[in-house]
Amino acid sequence: MDAAEKRVHTFVRVKPTADFAQDMIKFGPDNKSIDIHIKKDAKKGVVNNRQTDWSFRLDGVLHNTSQELVYETVAEKLVSEALTGYSGTIMCYGQTGAGKTYTMTGATAEYKHRGIIPRALQQVFKATAHSVRVRISYLEIYNETLVDLLSTTTRSGTSDVPMAVVDCPQGVYVKGLSIHSVSHEEDALNLLFEGETNRAIAEHTLNKNSSRSHCIFTIYIESRFRVFSDVKCVNSKISLIDLAGSERLSKTRSEGQVLKEAMYINKSLSFLEQLIIALADPKRDHMPFRQSKLTHVLKDSLGGNCNIVLVANIRGEAAHVEETLSSLRFATRMRWITTEPVISETYDREVNRSLVTYDPLTDIQKAEIKSQVHKYLKGAIDEIDIVNIRQVQEVFKQFKLIASQQEHEVEARLRSKYALIDKNDFAAVAAVHKAGVVVADGHLVQEENGRDFGTRTASSSSRHGGKKKFRKSNEQPKKEGIWTSLSGRDVGDFLPSKSQVINSTKDLDVREGARNQDTANIDTELSKPAPVEDSQRPSSPPSKPVAFEQFKEECGSEISRIFKENKSILLARKKRSSAVAQRINFIKREMEGIQKALEAQKQERWQEGEYVDEKGQIIIDEKEFSLIMKLKDLKEEYRSGYAELQDLKAEIQYCQRLVNQCRNKLIAEFEIWYNESFLIPEDAREALKPGGNIRPGMIPINRVMCLEEDEQDRFERMQETTLPACPASVSFYRAKTKTDQKHTYTRTMSSLEKMRKKPGLITAAGKNKPLSFLHVM
Ligand code: ADP
Ligand code: MG
Repeated sequence: MDAAEKRVHTFVRVKPTADFAQDMIKFGPDNKSIDIHIKKDAKKGVVNNRQTDWSFRLDGVLHNTSQELVYETVAEKLVSEALTGYSGTIMCYGQTGAGKTYTMTGATAEYKHRGIIPRALQQVFKATAHSVRVRISYLEIYNETLVDLLSTTTRSGTSDVPMAVVDCPQGVYVKGLSIHSVSHEEDALNLLFEGETNRAIAEHTLNKNSSRSHCIFTIYIESRFRVFSDVKCVNSKISLIDLAGSERLSKTRSEGQVLKEAMYINKSLSFLEQLIIALADPKRDHMPFRQSKLTHVLKDSLGGNCNIVLVANIRGEAAHVEETLSSLRFATRMRWITTEPVISETYDREVNRSLVTYDPLTDIQKAEIKSQVHKYLKGAIDEIDIVNIRQVQEVFKQFKLIASQQEHEVEARLRSKYALIDKNDFAAVAAVHKAGVVVADGHLVQEENGRDFGTRTASSSSRHGGKKKFRKSNEQPKKEGIWTSLSGRDVGDFLPSKSQVINSTKDLDVREGARNQDTANIDTELSKPAPVEDSQRPSSPPSKPVAFEQFKEECGSEISRIFKENKSILLARKKRSSAVAQRINFIKREMEGIQKALEAQKQERWQEGEYVDEKGQIIIDEKEFSLIMKLKDLKEEYRSGYAELQDLKAEIQYCQRLVNQCRNKLIAEFEIWYNESFLIPEDAREALKPGGNIRPGMIPINRVMCLEEDEQDRFERMQETTLPACPASVSFYRAKTKTDQKHTYTRTMSSLEKMRKKPGLITAAGKNKPLSFLHVM
């Protein structure tokens, strides 16, 4: 690519409206200009100069344009150049409600309406080879305060070191902003959705308005190439910026807090405007980057060494014409900026460096590293500075030490409470199994008092006769030690029923392994007569399979009905899709047959000598003609079938998501109902009644549960595997579902914490009743 001077590319996107001001806003015939006309009386005193007509030239007007086309026009090239080392910036500017967030992030609930960020991530991961490292950060600037939308540590507000914009020779960076390595699209989308949720939560809890904050999603790309004994590093980043609303609130309209915010926003946006004017002026040598956090953070992104695209989002209604005018002015000013994209590359003597040997660390140095690691784990420090390889290795060593110490502690704690038996000791296993046991992490565990506490993540039931009826033929070998490889949410009890959660997570195989074992345990349990002492106790809860059936008949009947309905819609779509796919294949084969026949006809014609009419056109016989016509029809049919199949695929993805959501909801509701109906002692149940001191629905669902696979599910799964290539939307929906689940989980866990603090409620139930999960730490 040449490093010739370039301009900032500017586009205008018009939000669709039924009320478009046709007599005020006119698009040029080439779709590269907009004319605005305001009638004199209409603008009375509002626009304080006499001009009534304006004309703006841009790189494109996006009017009634799909998200896909917007991406192709605005971002695709910039992203592909970022992959070769040229950084890029895309910025959305415009009044609140004009579609900035829709353009940048899009609708996170619907794949088709996803915006530039998810599409850019998809493009990056489609293109990247193994030597490319992708990292991500998500920053929000609100009232001159920097907020990390992806901070994973629970920050304790004031005690935290505030984030700051820092200049360094390599460029600006935000100190304290977390940057996350991602290895595939789904991970990256998880972070995006996480950030979006945090944005919404913060907005809610701080009672702030997202239209007043700027959000910057950054994708850092680092490619490494070997050049002889050196490693060439090419770094680039893509900054995707959703600016605050550009509307100018007059002081009379807003007061107090709102006024403060409005001024701030106006201030940072007007600093941005000043900066844009300065950047566009070739004679200026000082650029006012440091006037605001926003302009400071954007120093690299607007500084001229990267590709820049601006999307001005406007609204087409007459009432918004003033804001539209001001957005178009901003866009034209941006257009004056010239940029000179350069590749940022560094040479790392990495290969040589690995040969360097350092002196061994002294005991004092080791002690210092150990203390740093402990501080880091406690959250007292945010990062451990890298000094050299030796030090890094010692850091790892310390981590390993701590991990193994904790493992021992946990085991000791478990041993003090439960009898742990080696699962390879068959005699012991058999003995213990009779008494009702649980297998966890390679050990059979039995509570000292002999009561089953219900964690059924068995890893060895196949050895003692576990049924294999749900095992798929292409199944991966199952991991041992399932327990430790699952997150807290995943570890939990079973929920046998006629349906099953289609896992949207990567640990599908692992969980499926667990489920197979579950099935075995459930079956044995169901066929086992209830122990005598249990049946004598009136409060003994019914088993979950039985209760679930009851739930579906009673309280859960509505959600259960919706679930079934959604499933049948999904199934119908899948059936249709596979029928269409078969039809397409059939047509394809037929087309191939005709093509062969035509080829033969042609050969024949050549051999026999061709007839040519007076105009020089070859004359063909009727047979060949009818073959050509048939082929044409088939092509048409093929095309329409193909289009239908594409639509169906998108629909199936969407329906699948609904079904998953519904299933999760059904399980969650059941769990609440079960807990409230059976697991809570009488006095606590009183408290749950209307007017009592606990709000119903606060009982924790300690995990998303696995339901057993039923006939229909298996059929669906089979359909899925026989369907043609999986559409690209899978990562998108997986990430979205995962983020939603995580937040539900966190919410319920925190309500559990709150309830725990009230003595005698849940804890009382937990002592006597089987707990459906096991706390490790
Ligand atoms: P902003 O971020 O500029 O304040 P939003 O992106 O939140 O505005 O858009 C406001 C509303 O308009 C949202 O409900 C969004 O879904 C909708 N919207 C914006 N642009 C479009 C578009 N091009 N097509 C369909 N809906 C749109
Ligand atoms: Mg917005």
